[in-house]
Amino acid sequence: MASTFTEPEPSPLALLLLGHASDDDTEAGVVCPGDLPAPSDPGLVERARAAKETLGSRVFILGHHYQRDEVIQFADATGDSFKLAQQAAAHPEAEFIVFEGVHFMAESADILTDDSQQVVLPDSAAGCSMADMATIAQVEECWALLEELGIAEQTVPVTYMNSSAAIKAFTGRNGGAVCTSSNAERSLTWAFERGEKVLFLPDQHLGRTTAVIDLGMSLDDCVVYNPNRPRGGLTDEQLRGARMILWRGHCSVHGRFTAQNVDEVRERVPGVTVIVHPECSFEVVSKADVIGSTEKIIATITAAEPGTAWAVGTELNLVKRLAEQHPDKEIIYLDKTVCFCSTMNRIDLPHLVWALESLVQGTVPNRITVDADTQHWAKVALDRMLALPGPSAAKD
Ligand code: SF4
Repeated sequence: MASTFTEPEPSPLALLLLGHASDDDTEAGVVCPGDLPAPSDPGLVERARAAKETLGSRVFILGHHYQRDEVIQFADATGDSFKLAQQAAAHPEAEFIVFEGVHFMAESADILTDDSQQVVLPDSAAGCSMADMATIAQVEECWALLEELGIAEQTVPVTYMNSSAAIKAFTGRNGGAVCTSSNAERSLTWAFERGEKVLFLPDQHLGRTTAVIDLGMSLDDCVVYNPNRPRGGLTDEQLRGARMILWRGHCSVHGRFTAQNVDEVRERVPGVTVIVHPECSFEVVSKADVIGSTEKIIATITAAEPGTAWAVGTELNLVKRLAEQHPDKEIIYLDKTVCFCSTMNRIDLPHLVWALESLVQGTVPNRITVDADTQHWAKVALDRMLALPGPSAAKD
């Protein structure tokens, strides 16, 4: 059967966010200083190949599943954010780790690698809109409120991998752990063995879905802390009564899917299986057949019978690649409009060529570093996650 993947309609917003400008509100918040080759240069693929060959084992390139094909073809390893950070640590011979991903991922790679290894993000303005929704100043203000109410001691912070190094360090300092979309249930179970409440950062959807669907809590056990409102927009009673204090953050890509998308695809494609990422809203995951991290989505579709139909609710580059790799299955994008991650898409071929050629010329461009104290406490939170019982595979 030929793949029936159809290109969704472009959305003006998604396209506007691409390009080489920067947004000062992003996690990275800087303009990429690169003197980039023109995107129209027909020699870009050859230039990237030649630079990579010249660098040899001095460079190791990591590519996140949501990256464009034009750069992922040069990746030495592909995967989710945590698997890629582990891959970086597993290659101490590489002097340079070039991360085709976003800022928090490059920070995690710096935390988990040797001090002699230098992590490079080809476009330093590639941040993550979800990570941007929790700044360290906001989180410390929230914690001070919990201390004022006398409930901080009963609260264990848990932060999703998709957060800045500063937030991971805050979590480590205050007795908490990092989690990923595949071990959030184990991480929350661990946290509730140590405290009565969890402050879950920064993705409210992953926190709510894990608490309610996996751990059997009620929606009433959860409150949403809005960092842009005085005292989080909550009463003291609400904070005292909640078991899950969910940070008001979300992924701008997965947040676009709606329950209506699920209803429509079921009507259009009888027998379709709907598989979505847990960063989707509670309404969407409640209607889906399968909820899973990017690695689980890939594994499930790869193992599926030929002729089966799948509607996939995750980033478009990954869904397109799955459709190309599995022409014997019907793979449909859950939304009808483009849903690329605009910040992931900042890493394009001109940025990759510029980064690799700079390394060849002896300059390290866009090096991502995390200071020693932040590294220490972030690693404490990461190590607590790694020590959780059960499979250690950790996936975004
Ligand atoms: S897909 Fe969402 S969570 Fe992942 S990098 Fe993009 S904005 Fe951040």
